[in-house]
Amino acid sequence: MVFEYAPAPESRGIVALRDSYGLFIDGEFTDGGGVFKTVNPADEEVLAEVASADASDVDRAVAAARRAFDSWGSMPGRERGKYLFRIARLLQERAREFAVLESLDNGKPIRESRDIDLPLVAAHFFYYAGWADKLRYAGVGSAPLGVAGQVIPWNFPLLMLAWKIAPALATGNTVVLKPAETTPLTALLFAEVCQQADLPPGVVNIVTGAGETGRALVSHPGINKVAFTGSTEVGREIARAVAGSPKRLTLELGGKAANIVFDDAPVDQAVEGIVDGIFFNQGHVCCAGSRLLVQESVADEVLESLRRRMSTLRVGDPLDKNTDVGAINSAEQLSKIRELSDIGEAEGAERWSPPCSLPSQGYWFPPTVFTGVSQAHRIAREEVFGPVLSVLTFRTPAEAVEKANNTPYGLSAGIWTEKGSRILWMADKLRAGVVWANTFNQFDPASPFGGYKESGYGREGGRHGLEAYVK
Ligand code: NAD
Ligand code: MG
Repeated sequence: MVFEYAPAPESRGIVALRDSYGLFIDGEFTDGGGVFKTVNPADEEVLAEVASADASDVDRAVAAARRAFDSWGSMPGRERGKYLFRIARLLQERAREFAVLESLDNGKPIRESRDIDLPLVAAHFFYYAGWADKLRYAGVGSAPLGVAGQVIPWNFPLLMLAWKIAPALATGNTVVLKPAETTPLTALLFAEVCQQADLPPGVVNIVTGAGETGRALVSHPGINKVAFTGSTEVGREIARAVAGSPKRLTLELGGKAANIVFDDAPVDQAVEGIVDGIFFNQGHVCCAGSRLLVQESVADEVLESLRRRMSTLRVGDPLDKNTDVGAINSAEQLSKIRELSDIGEAEGAERWSPPCSLPSQGYWFPPTVFTGVSQAHRIAREEVFGPVLSVLTFRTPAEAVEKANNTPYGLSAGIWTEKGSRILWMADKLRAGVVWANTFNQFDPASPFGGYKESGYGREGGRHGLEAYVK
């Protein structure tokens, strides 16, 4: 039996979209050297024109952050903490507005922006606000570095902003942040919250623009620290640009996580975890469980259940409260997902998607699973960054570990089994920054997050997350 739902769209009326947005420098919105457009990926409608920062704009922003550092960096922690608590409360008060804007600009389902992104964003500011006056007990040093240049991607626009800005401000640094070019709007709304919170001018600066703006920021001689989240390719370029300079660097890059299901795992729960692992946020998740490793003896049963569950996923309007899978963030990302999926088929893997009708406008890709995948296949090795799951099988725990670790990445992994001893044995052997057991994609501001190998270095979140911003 198929259940139908009446559409339940969230109103976009709560968002006062402007035709154009400026850069946020020294507490004020200003023009930049150029402009670009940001679209709603669900229907390709242009949402707004946004200022693009050139090298001289980045220069102004860094200068403003440097001036602000004089007083912000020496302000008592308990005073800085008050601003962070105020920002956290304002984010909670305006959560619905932020969630709708995030779904409009990014394409993610409102259910996720409302119930996951925004609560985590506020939690992150509350968490680091709490550290501001307790830094000398954290055991990581307590002197701020100065000005941080931060560059973030489009998959969790506001959440990545929170991961970058909250620990930087709590420790007394000032920041210049560049959002991704396809999702600049919630960062600019956040700039309004900074004004509302009376944050001193220059403590937070937002420079919008594309890769060139990012390059001007990370190579600017006036910054003391670079924090980057995004692709491994750009991460490498940034590491080269920063090498030999006194700048500190943290990189949070791609991933190709194994989600490992043993024969004693409760199948229904494991299937929920597999679905959450790869279809959450359209699979635009660096720690996505994109490689399912399932024990051979239960592979048929798990796959049958998985296909049944995938058939109930609702793909469509991100603002509809019933939607499970929203739009792919950009035409560029969509073509990358299509290309890698076609290669998967050409390499001999078997492709399956549930029957689902996709909207005619916008960027869409159906939830997809590949079976008969071997370790050498490109879909098993490369990050697709879309709703595409590769399935491999294993017989023994040792084989599972070997296959799981057979990747240049090392960000996360999942284990599904009843045996606690096996969880501990596996977790010890998996080369991944985060290992989840009988759950997946759990995030908490108190818990550090970060990678091994090509997934980058440094940790964000928790007490560890302070370390990157103090000496
Ligand atoms: P990207 O690395 O190109 O962009 C990330 C950010 O870096 C953006 O703000 C971008 O404008 C900026 N940037 C681009 N070139 C730069 C440069 N030379 N110097 C400084 N900043 C620069 O990533 P993308 O285009 O958003 O996505 C491409 C791939 O990256 C995805 O398909 C996925 O594999 C990966 N990705 C990973 C994450 C993650 O969270 N680890 C997030 C998004 C994308
Ligand atoms: Mg957009």
